[in-house]
Amino acid sequence: MTRMSARAGTAALKTNEDIQRIRLAGRVVFKVLSLCREMVRPGVTTAELNAEAERLIEASGAEALFRGVEARQAKFPFPAALCTSVNDQVVHGIPSSRTLAEGDVVSIDCGVRLDGWCGDSAITIAVGRIAQDVERLLTVTREMLELAIQAIRPKMWWSEIAGRMQAHAETAGFSVVREFVGHGIGREMHEEPKIPNYVDPREKRMDFLLSEGMTLAIEPMVNMGTANVMYEDRSGWPVVTADGRYAAHFEHTVAVTARGADVLTDGR
Ligand code: MG
Ligand code: MG
Repeated sequence: MTRMSARAGTAALKTNEDIQRIRLAGRVVFKVLSLCREMVRPGVTTAELNAEAERLIEASGAEALFRGVEARQAKFPFPAALCTSVNDQVVHGIPSSRTLAEGDVVSIDCGVRLDGWCGDSAITIAVGRIAQDVERLLTVTREMLELAIQAIRPKMWWSEIAGRMQAHAETAGFSVVREFVGHGIGREMHEEPKIPNYVDPREKRMDFLLSEGMTLAIEPMVNMGTANVMYEDRSGWPVVTADGRYAAHFEHTVAVTARGADVLTDGR
């Protein structure tokens, strides 16, 4: 995810060949997230998930994109291949000796570069049995990503899709994070345009028309309570909900084609 900003940019369009290369990077990300899904259970630490992810990324000949990322507010570069965000952590959770417990949720975000092209995807995983309302949060957030993927067509305004995503979250009683949004992706992990999961009339000039050849990381971040977020501590990394309630995050890298969205991080 990237920070929302007031500056609008133009997406670099990709050729079919570029898109196939992004898919190869996306396959590595898919494998990493599948491995994490298998590993997640009560008693596992987020550092163990990260260690296995690092091993798989290296064995695939890819480079972990998050490790070493610098941010203005952060005290140190991001220290891991995965972001592992637990419960009220929305994004940028740092893998640690924290042990996952029954009833937790963990959002795992992974980005890699393979042969010069990037893939980026995230899933929120339930640890054992979770509360029914948290299960609903995960389902609704996943559905927001799916409905965006189903809706994408060239020559559509993104805001039309973002509005549907936001309505889906809010109808369920949840709220959409504003500070962080999706992004274009290609040779760089974060390219233009910014891809919000909500509509704000004040940001109308940021809106863009979907075009064939765009490659986009679409990533709804949804909170159970308030949309407000803050940094957890002085490190300037983990972002948590302001009210301490749980958050969910799902992401796919997709290409816009004449027929609609082509998902590049689903393992195909
Ligand atoms: Mg992303
Ligand atoms: Mg991501």
